[in-house]
Amino acid sequence: MALGKADFERARAHMVETQIAGRGVRDPRLLDAMRQVPREAFVAEGYEELAFEDAPLTIGEGQTISQPYVVALMMEAAETKVGDVALEVGAGSGYAAAVLGRLVARVFAIERHRSLAEEARRRLKRLGCDNIELRCGDGTRGWPEAAPFDVILVSAGAPKVPEALKEQLVSGGRLIIPVGRHDGHQRLLKITRCGAADSLTTDLGAVSFVPLVGEQA
Ligand code: SAH
Repeated sequence: MALGKADFERARAHMVETQIAGRGVRDPRLLDAMRQVPREAFVAEGYEELAFEDAPLTIGEGQTISQPYVVALMMEAAETKVGDVALEVGAGSGYAAAVLGRLVARVFAIERHRSLAEEARRRLKRLGCDNIELRCGDGTRGWPEAAPFDVILVSAGAPKVPEALKEQLVSGGRLIIPVGRHDGHQRLLKITRCGAADSLTTDLGAVSFVPLVGEQA
């Protein structure tokens, strides 16, 4: 039997309760955003019931929609504020951008695979996420015309931190990025820009992302 709107709402509430709040994420705005964004709309047709699994899921082109908890971990670390302008590098299905769009004023999102970018753009439009601008391109160079950003999230594992991204942060801005030399094994870093040349790095733990591919990666 096909699942209805109420079933999906229940499934999202359960996902937030067990996987997100249950693991210590407390920010009520973030928990609300993750209850509201219809994660089932960001997976391939026929896979809706798997959308709430505690794992990443394939979205085509060898890429994945991140595990819900990893999305929450990055958003919480980003300390988003209502008026913030944010950039996401590696938009994939558009799910993390949609959650981010509920937490900040404006989101710019970049995806390097054209087919994924087009699908994500259509999806976000259909869902009425009108504070998100998504383009196809290499996100390692950031989005200079829209910079500076209060928050930058990188949803793919980088061998090193792209300088362009650090430079596109406001003073006090937060860059959340998985960094590591080996595919699938990274440390999630939070880099807070403290001034023109200074930054503070915090290690948030081990994560596993698909690789960031680009000029500055
Ligand atoms: N945030 C996404 C997760 C997508 S996985 C979601 O919620 O669905 C990471 C994505 O990063 C992949 O789709 C991959 O194609 C993309 N990517 C890798 N390198 C990139 C780059 N240099 N610029 C933009 N996107 C990139």
